[in-house]
Amino acid sequence: MRTGHCLCGACAYEIDGDPVVVAHCHCRDCQRLSGAGHSTGAMFPQSGVRLRGEVGRYELESELGNTVTRVFCPACGSPLFGMNSAMPGYMTVTLGTLDTPDDLTPQVAIFARSRPSWDAMDPALATFDAQPEWKPDAAA
Ligand SMILES: [Zn+2]
Ligand SMILES: [Zn+2]
Repeated sequence: MRTGHCLCGACAYEIDGDPVVVAHCHCRDCQRLSGAGHSTGAMFPQSGVRLRGEVGRYELESELGNTVTRVFCPACGSPLFGMNSAMPGYMTVTLGTLDTPDDLTPQVAIFARSRPSWDAMDPALATFDAQPEWKPDAAA
């Protein structure tokens, strides 16, 4: 089981199982959300995630027309989860909010076309200009 919490501790979570993918995302939405050059998230089946505390939610439409829901702590603002209507039943956990973030290793970098020059990544990492054709069922 993995555990994590926001900066102030008002929101905490537990996750069973292993992620289906761990990715860096350089899209502009993730840059604004994180305040950095990318966000890093691990996608888990939603059924294994238990959340404690009152969270805030913000919905937006992705460039592919899907509904993206960002879940955050309303007290301290930490981004905790993301959901995408294109991947029902899955949620992406921000790696930095995990209690042991070094347990997981990112496998891909996506939306690299928006990557700022100062946000250098391991060149050995599988890198995609945008969102690759990928479905959790195929990767599992
Ligand atoms: Zn908080
Ligand atoms: Zn993104």
